[in-house]
Amino acid sequence: MNAISLEQVASHPEYVSIAGLAGIRLDLRYASADNFVGRDLYGAAAPALLHRQAAEQLARAAQWLGRQRPGYRLRVFDALRPGRVQRVLWDIVKDTPQRIYVADPARGSIHSFGMAVDLSVEDDAGRELDMGAGFDDFTELAQPQREEAMLAAGRLSAAQLANRRLLREAMEGAGFRGIPTEWWHFEAADKAWIRETMRLVE
Ligand SMILES: [Zn+2]
Repeated sequence: MNAISLEQVASHPEYVSIAGLAGIRLDLRYASADNFVGRDLYGAAAPALLHRQAAEQLARAAQWLGRQRPGYRLRVFDALRPGRVQRVLWDIVKDTPQRIYVADPARGSIHSFGMAVDLSVEDDAGRELDMGAGFDDFTELAQPQREEAMLAAGRLSAAQLANRRLLREAMEGAGFRGIPTEWWHFEAADKAWIRETMRLVE
């Protein structure tokens, strides 16, 4: 696997900051203690970065959302996650049931290629829409593959499901793909293609 350091990425034209993108608000949870680990994993060098391809798709998703719902924005929880941070997450969950939610760093998280983003939607008053489960809620309630069952069981409301569908429509319309286990996670291209052709950021 090809690798590139986070320090090299900062000045590499293939990687761009998403900090100033229209329609995007950053709420980088791993750059604060507000995450399932309970501590800041990024420190001062919080990388609000994506591969250029993913950043362009994200900008299109935000534009679409703003046209559908004026004033609404995408709220980004995590974007490029260097391999070094992925290893910290993996060490915490590898012997727990939560391991299904965290990619083994030996294979590389799609986040570490700058091609995945974790996000939600916020309304024109800056309030996050109710998705029925929070970011990094490692339960079946967070799983798109369980949504219909959760709805039937009364654990997810029709309004919560509609909010998730709004996010998916915005992201899929811009070329992202969701995954079956996390409503907040989207990838900018096919996983296997990314792992074969792109560089992993260490
Ligand atoms: Zn993710």
